Amino acid sequence: SANVETLEFQSEARQLLQLMIHSIYSNKDTFLRELVSNASDALDKVRLEAFRDKELQADTDDLHIALELDPAARTLTVRDNGIGMSRDEVVSLIGTIAKSGTAEFLRKLKENQGGQDQLIGQFGVGFYASFMVADKVTLVTRRAGQDEGTRWESTGEGTYTVEPVADAPQGTAVTLHLKPEDTEEHLHDYASRAKVVEIVRRYSDFITWPIRVEPEGGGEPEVVNSRKALWARSQSEVTEEEYTEFYKHVSHDWTEPLETIRLAAEGVFEYQALLFLPQRAPFDLFMRDRKRGVQLYVKRVFIMDDCEELMPEYLRFVKGVVDAQDLSLNVSREILQQDRQIQLMRRRLVRKVLSTVKSLMTDKPDSYATFWSEFGRAVKEGLLDDVDNRDAILDIASFASTHDQEKPTTLADYLARMPEGQEHVYYLTGESRSALENSPHLEAFLAKGYEVLLLTDAIDEMWVGSVPEYKGKKLQSVAKGQVDLDDDKDEDAAKERAEEFAGLLGWLTEQLGDAVKEVRLSSRLTTSPACVVGDDFDLTPTLEKMYRAMGQ
Ligand code: ADP
Ligand code: MG
Repeated sequence: SANVETLEFQSEARQLLQLMIHSIYSNKDTFLRELVSNASDALDKVRLEAFRDKELQADTDDLHIALELDPAARTLTVRDNGIGMSRDEVVSLIGTIAKSGTAEFLRKLKENQGGQDQLIGQFGVGFYASFMVADKVTLVTRRAGQDEGTRWESTGEGTYTVEPVADAPQGTAVTLHLKPEDTEEHLHDYASRAKVVEIVRRYSDFITWPIRVEPEGGGEPEVVNSRKALWARSQSEVTEEEYTEFYKHVSHDWTEPLETIRLAAEGVFEYQALLFLPQRAPFDLFMRDRKRGVQLYVKRVFIMDDCEELMPEYLRFVKGVVDAQDLSLNVSREILQQDRQIQLMRRRLVRKVLSTVKSLMTDKPDSYATFWSEFGRAVKEGLLDDVDNRDAILDIASFASTHDQEKPTTLADYLARMPEGQEHVYYLTGESRSALENSPHLEAFLAKGYEVLLLTDAIDEMWVGSVPEYKGKKLQSVAKGQVDLDDDKDEDAAKERAEEFAGLLGWLTEQLGDAVKEVRLSSRLTTSPACVVGDDFDLTPTLEKMYRAMGQ
């Protein structure tokens, strides 16, 4: 009709769709998890909006998800009566990918022929997963409170159409026109009830909303998911696979979690937490608008995503759910910020996350190594932000060191290796391991058999200055101040040398003028004739560069 508009997918969306359509996936069943997950989010949202805005003309009487099968037409429809989308929302949410880091993700994907499954897993393609099994997708939606609905349709090849519809029910119906190969009489018959129910039970059983499917041969639709909140069930009752699927739902990640963390408190302020450490850092871990991953529920009711009151910035990669029994359903961010119970809860959650990582170090060293290489850079921000937990963070940290080319060391191991006579924990900061290894600052320390930590993350420059010690041992830069290596302690020899070199030092001081504060003899070098060192309180060269780049 005249009202049909044909629009183009944003170019990044187009590239991603091409991949969905043309790549081979090991597990296509997951498209249904994505659609059910979206429907569940939409139901959470309409309940919440209707609760907050009494004027909103929303119908919240029988919130549910329905799966409708038409084997003859080869279609599968996922319907919800949730929040729905306006026409503009359909265009912006379905026609574009707003996720930060998409461009970089696509670049990596191109370089990574073969490992695409895994990368896509990290990124989470959501709604576009429909195109793994459908050659055409039709979406009809109406936003709660609005009169007009929108019909969206696409084959995923470059363009889509949108048009207004008059009689759409509240919420969203996504109809998949299944590809022929996916409806044949084998494993992939997504138009068969048995297959669809099996997938729902496997991936979406915990969804708190009823998921209804019509029985074989017709009749009243039946609820096929158990709807049990995992965090409310006893730990022994929940299988590893159930945790994994729940993780995928809350995290929008496609890979398994690295570790599952459960925590419960009873008494005056009762809550349950089910948290996860992911396997991999998301692409946007260090981007500014990065969200935090913990959702707040109150008595099984979803309240908010991205609850920053529950998890500090440096643990922003932790995903999961906290369900508090004693908060009001209309709790706001402002209330959360002031609530003492929430602050206590957050303290306990943080300690639990840190202690879980600590136990990985001994129980699952490989998991720990993965964790630290993915998230260590973020965790180290906590050395500045979370002074109370500084020691706990240092306990779980590892650093590259001159002791081992490949394997990073913990501070505890460093201390255990310290030879007789070494008093401090020595480190050197800089841009790369190879640059540091060539630094003349290292020479004397290596010659003495002292180990030096090689700190190359930008954040290292920031925290080393404010963390004075670990277990009573001072953290000392080998590039700063007077370094007290034993040789200096032989005072007569030092005096003799000072006299011997007085002429040279005087001449150097004159020549270098204002460029340096002082020229002095040092025991820190073995093969290089001279090096520049900072004062104890000077900025390191890297920090100086950072400040200069920021225009300070
Ligand atoms: P994600 O769920 O990770 O945000 P998706 O690709 O799955 O990404 O969905 C993109 C967006 O489209 C969602 O964030 C949501 O705003 C909107 N959307 C998708 N499905 C629905 C639905 N059934 N009801 C309402 N909005 C939806
Ligand atoms: Mg989604």
